[in-house]
Amino acid sequence: MEIYNTLTKKKEKFVPNEEGRVNMYTCGPTVYHYAHIGNLRSYIMEDVLEKYLSYEGYNVKRVMNITDVGHLSSDADTGEDKMLKGAKREHKTVLEIAKFYTDAFFQDCKKLNIKTPDVVEPATNCIPEFIHMIEELLKKGYAYEAGGNIYFDTSKLKDYYVLSSHNEEDLMEGVRDDVDVDKNKKNKTDFVLWFTKSKFDDQELKWESPWGMGYPGWHIECSCISMKHLGEHLDIHCGGIDNIFPHHTNEIAQSESYLGHKWCNYWFHVHHLNDKEGKMSKSKGDFLTVSLLESKGYNPLVYRMFCLQSHYRKPLEFSYEIMDNTKTAYEKLKKRIAALKNEGTADENVLEEYRQKFIEAVGNDINTSLGLTLIYDVLKADISDGAKLAIIEDYDTVLSLDLTKKDIKTEEDNTSDVTEEELSYINEKIAERAAAKKEKNFARADEIRNELLEKGIAIKDTREGVVWEKI
Ligand code: AMP
Ligand code: ZN
Repeated sequence: MEIYNTLTKKKEKFVPNEEGRVNMYTCGPTVYHYAHIGNLRSYIMEDVLEKYLSYEGYNVKRVMNITDVGHLSSDADTGEDKMLKGAKREHKTVLEIAKFYTDAFFQDCKKLNIKTPDVVEPATNCIPEFIHMIEELLKKGYAYEAGGNIYFDTSKLKDYYVLSSHNEEDLMEGVRDDVDVDKNKKNKTDFVLWFTKSKFDDQELKWESPWGMGYPGWHIECSCISMKHLGEHLDIHCGGIDNIFPHHTNEIAQSESYLGHKWCNYWFHVHHLNDKEGKMSKSKGDFLTVSLLESKGYNPLVYRMFCLQSHYRKPLEFSYEIMDNTKTAYEKLKKRIAALKNEGTADENVLEEYRQKFIEAVGNDINTSLGLTLIYDVLKADISDGAKLAIIEDYDTVLSLDLTKKDIKTEEDNTSDVTEEELSYINEKIAERAAAKKEKNFARADEIRNELLEKGIAIKDTREGVVWEKI
């Protein structure tokens, strides 16, 4: 596989530390609110990366943290703690908020066919590990105490900006807008490892430490959680591009100072999903979630396909117009695949030839849109339907669009009886009913069932989901 490495700013051949094994780390969500579909773009593309590595035969171990403490409103350690903000907003405890939004995050992931990483570790589980790393950094002279807090001293490093193109001037620019400059810092780029006498006297989650009651900074979480489960050498670290600076820059600074050697070889960053006003972000308040897309009648996998159509290193602008086109394309594609007869043998040579085509396409810096194009090539190819199905199933282990899975939209018996317009109406109504049920609006759910009945469509709730038939 060739992959663009943010560290070297080049596309490179991927060679893990240990043959056949990949240690992969992903920055997990800050669980103070629902994930927006921008966050999920990052997780979808990272999921493709993980599955692609497995497709090439690597044994991948993937670890993800859950940020449930220490992430302040500004990534540069200023502002309010995001978790506290969430708890206040909902009149709940931080732990209640964390549990609720962690569950919600994994429900969204499930709907988008994003595999749960092998290890998922909340930051609040690892306080002793954080304290240990901070003690070592203090001993080695990379950290200092000021105003009760412990800071990392970035002036001790030869190349703090190893990952990013930020320079002193850009940072000065950022600081000028920031009224909340921390006077304890010796250098502007220094960052907090442990907060004690911070301005949050009411901080709900606090732990004993050699420096007094307090809580960890955000960056230390990822270094420790990664090392706890993946050891001293990481092959690939992922996140959205906003994580490059300061989060990943700081992760490298503290990890390599602690270890005394290089930590991670490849850095994979997903570009942002934007809306018309710019980067989609949780702090903007009104943001797009998977449930909102569902309530508008979109299958979450249509959003997955929306993401796969463009390259992860390009910004992507969300629009309902493109979503509608993608929805039509997805439904048509599934219909074409559902119409294939499971007949004819799949010749091993043919399967291998198509495997190679997929590796050439997707293995070139996770080019998912070329991967999708290949599916159309398979459908047009002069091979048996059985072979086509086998190849598409194989590709779908990476793309995860449920392409060969029969569902209510493509069941031949059903869909052959209705027009595309009717099918789209039925699916919209089913999604609307699901949303009504979720909001416990059962009266509306019944109404929708009756509306469908009037149009000659009976629906039934089954363990596999809602099924319908024309009566
Ligand atoms: P957070 O929950 O804010 O810690 O973010 C979770 C992940 O989503 C991180 O990897 C971020 O870099 C990523 N992210 C945040 N905003 C966007 C966006 N608009 N598009 C793509 N990824 C994003
Ligand atoms: Zn992280």
